[in-house]
Amino acid sequence: MASRDEVVALDKRRVWHPYTPMRQYVEEGTPLVIERAEGARIWDADGRSFIDGNASWWTCALGHRHPRLMARLKAQSEKLCHVAFAGVTHEPAAALAEALVEVAPEGLGHVFFSDDGSTAVEVALKMSLQKHHNEGRPDKVGFVALVDAFHGETLGVTGLGGMEVFRRPFSKATLPCHHVPRPPAQPSDEGFAEAVAALTATLERHGDTIAAVVLEPCVQGAAGMRFYAPAYLQICRQLCDEHDVMMIADEVFTGYGRTGPMWACHHAGVSPDMLCTAKAFTGGVLPMAATLVSDRVFDAFLGEKERAFYYGHTFCGHALGAAVASEVLAVFREEQVLARAEAKAARIAETFTRLGAHEGMRNGRALGMIGAVDFDTADGYLGKKGWRVYDEALKRGAYLRPLGDTVYVTPPLNIDDDELTTLLGIVEESVEVVRRDEGTPDRAWRME
Ligand SMILES: *Cc1c(COP(=O)(O)O)cnc(C)c1O
Repeated sequence: MASRDEVVALDKRRVWHPYTPMRQYVEEGTPLVIERAEGARIWDADGRSFIDGNASWWTCALGHRHPRLMARLKAQSEKLCHVAFAGVTHEPAAALAEALVEVAPEGLGHVFFSDDGSTAVEVALKMSLQKHHNEGRPDKVGFVALVDAFHGETLGVTGLGGMEVFRRPFSKATLPCHHVPRPPAQPSDEGFAEAVAALTATLERHGDTIAAVVLEPCVQGAAGMRFYAPAYLQICRQLCDEHDVMMIADEVFTGYGRTGPMWACHHAGVSPDMLCTAKAFTGGVLPMAATLVSDRVFDAFLGEKERAFYYGHTFCGHALGAAVASEVLAVFREEQVLARAEAKAARIAETFTRLGAHEGMRNGRALGMIGAVDFDTADGYLGKKGWRVYDEALKRGAYLRPLGDTVYVTPPLNIDDDELTTLLGIVEESVEVVRRDEGTPDRAWRME
């Protein structure tokens, strides 16, 4: 077996990592080399273990290698891994679609499968364009998204992304999109009326050329765990109906109980026309995603053959992924994952509220199994203090990838209480060290 150093040497020779300034990484990067994972922990090649504070980019909602998911994966692999999904079907996919509709917001009666969060949103964008096209409104080709939105990586969704760092090199090649302000956390807060007015004005002025409003409901994850008032979603629902505009909820991050209820849309009691899910969808076991649509959307593709959705990815309906995704839903139901997370969520809220009150910190906040706090700097995503907390947390046994100067946790929903105590303790200590400007100085190979 290759040693840690051999793996790193091979990696630095050949691999291009996501979101990484590669020159600095190759010169001075000290990546974790992870060998195995279980529950809320990951182990590196030196046998050190770390609590996975972000559930591996928000995917492992049930922890790593949940025994039921592993058993289902193994059982399914002995029968069928993948088969083309056009003119073919199988029980794992059909049963999963049924189980998803059962837990989905009301009215979402059909399921289109794809591979990851970006494709789940890409599917929704194309569906919204074609729905209008099929109904004789081919000019509805524009989109509305929130400032600082993040909807993934394909060129289509890049245009909706509101984060300047991610969009800049591509900005001349992207879809037309109106960016409107993110509302504040409470309807009574300053800026709520303005946010509503901006959305209203955009739809009144441009409604004839807008296909859809796309939103991460209640929380913008990649933007730095920015929370906003659910009431905005109710207003958005109404405006979309008035202007014949699709409402697309990107629940890739917020779904599967991350914010408390199964879907963040439930905070507002709103059903979107389309809902995108990925990340926790297979519990972090396999890349797979789904776009759920209302019957009204589905019906717009019926009739003449030209009305059909001529679109599909090679691995659409992947049998292994579908079997595991069904098991995820079964575990949520049978282990009462959402109800049991409530007490853990309260502890996260208590810790992050306290952190936010310290000098040099701001916006201690929490919702469901998300806790976040910001360093009081103006550096945003390219800020460095979060990375210093990352280094301090690693020394203490937690993996806490920040979003610039936002430090956050999004642990597995079923993290056990002792592990959560350890994680929150490490967050507090690490933030404190950096707040006092002690500990390891900044390292250049991260986001610069
Ligand atoms: C992560 C994310 C995506 C993209 O998902 P990928 O699986 O990385 O393609 C889209 N939308 C939101 C809200 C996300 O958090």
